[in-house]
Amino acid sequence: MTKPTTASGHKGLQLEQALIFEQDTQGTTAVDLPPIPEYADKLGEFGCDDPLGLPGLSEPEVVRHYTRLSQKNYSIDSGFYPLGSCTMKHNPRLNEKMARLPGFADVHPFQPISTVQGALELIDSCAHWLTELTGMAAVAMSPAAGAHGELCGLMCIKSAHDAAGSTRSVVLVPDSAHGTNPATAALCGYAVESIPANSEGRVDINALKSRLGPDIAAVMITNPNTCGLFERECIAIAEAVHAAGAYFYMDGANFNAIVGRLRIGDLGVDAMHINLHKTFSTPHGGGGPGAGPTVLSEALAPYAPVPMVVHGADGFDAEEHAGFGTAKKAYGRMKGYHGQFGVFVRALAYMMSMGADGLKQASGDAVLNANYLLARLSEELTPAFPGPCMHEAVFDDRFLKGTGVTTLDISKALIDEGFHPPTMYFPLVVHGALLIEPTETESKAALDQFVESMLHVARRAKAGNAAAEFQAAPQLAPRRRLDETGAARKPVLRWKPDETAAARQAAE
Ligand SMILES: *Cc1c(COP(=O)(O)O)cnc(C)c1O
Repeated sequence: MTKPTTASGHKGLQLEQALIFEQDTQGTTAVDLPPIPEYADKLGEFGCDDPLGLPGLSEPEVVRHYTRLSQKNYSIDSGFYPLGSCTMKHNPRLNEKMARLPGFADVHPFQPISTVQGALELIDSCAHWLTELTGMAAVAMSPAAGAHGELCGLMCIKSAHDAAGSTRSVVLVPDSAHGTNPATAALCGYAVESIPANSEGRVDINALKSRLGPDIAAVMITNPNTCGLFERECIAIAEAVHAAGAYFYMDGANFNAIVGRLRIGDLGVDAMHINLHKTFSTPHGGGGPGAGPTVLSEALAPYAPVPMVVHGADGFDAEEHAGFGTAKKAYGRMKGYHGQFGVFVRALAYMMSMGADGLKQASGDAVLNANYLLARLSEELTPAFPGPCMHEAVFDDRFLKGTGVTTLDISKALIDEGFHPPTMYFPLVVHGALLIEPTETESKAALDQFVESMLHVARRAKAGNAAAEFQAAPQLAPRRRLDETGAARKPVLRWKPDETAAARQAAE
């Protein structure tokens, strides 16, 4: 049976949506104002006589336009979001409610310190629990995202080397590193060299040790890494790195897999950022806001950026210049003010409501869920690495060998099944990778639904003669396969009456 075409272009109750400018009926407005009486114009030559070019729509038209647009956003509130290396989990509404309390939401960074004691106490408590959970000496709260936290950590490392008169110029990063790691090192002026992974998907410690030397400033390692695996040799790595006079940076974006179970300070780590928006609540995606506090060892703490909350004689105070502790060698600041305050509120509410036992259970459930997917999907898919995983499961594309179907095709077919595709082709060290992170917030029923769809898609691919059908996916989505590279490299961001319509037609 062929699918009907419709006169409207709508597909069932999925409505096509024209740009707001294309819906324009000049003269229509959402409000009726009385005619303007005569008045003396004081603007002179600066007055605008030309039409503003705003679209004319009635109130219901505006409401429908923005409501439909909001429905085009796929989100964690509408369905399972199995992206790996991203941690898209449910964020309790309680934390949203806390962040919206007027006492938190309406404070201003320029208020006198005496009027924001509660806000400073909240930052201080959040900082306290982050150092407690990581076993580290200090935390810089101001970085605004994970990548920003990495930059903060590397700037502390650079400051420490500068203070010691050392001119070390190279940062070592494993093959499987998140792209932000080498970018951060490069932004700090370091040359980046990669360390290979071993066949188990972990850092090749011998390769790492043999590259250590007087030119190495730092080693950046993600743990658990982006292959979803725990780096077991961190203590040996830390010892070797320190013996060589370098610092050990850990990318802690995946802290949600180990929180409550491991204090990274015990591993010999010098600096690590924590993505509060991945581990401690706060919805993210679409660009934030997030927060990337960076925990620091004794050795790096003195260089931590200002501002920081300190315990003053009359309550809490903000240290704006000198820096942390007695050494006070702050390298400067990461941004204006104290950081993403609303995210701190959510993070503290999350920690307080979960408690020590709850946090430990969350990391345990995240790992359990990932291993459930790994085990069940292994019926048809090929796991990239032997053995259990941490918070995310990685598959390669060996199961598609000879089918003519690619990882991309599988992802597109999953859209027809009603699932957001997992992360694809990352980590780069895995051929045709599918990286899936279920998180602790998905129920077994939700995971089973995903598994059934994934297995169904994999079986269809393996049954043979399916390449053409797969290449046509998605067939049930409002749009078919898009030119994603074109959309990223040559986005059409500005509406111009004729050009935009022509570009859209060309794209369709
Ligand atoms: C998400 C992530 C980052 C970057 O964090 P942002 O908040 O997106 O800047 C860095 N490393 C790893 C491993 C990540 O998963």
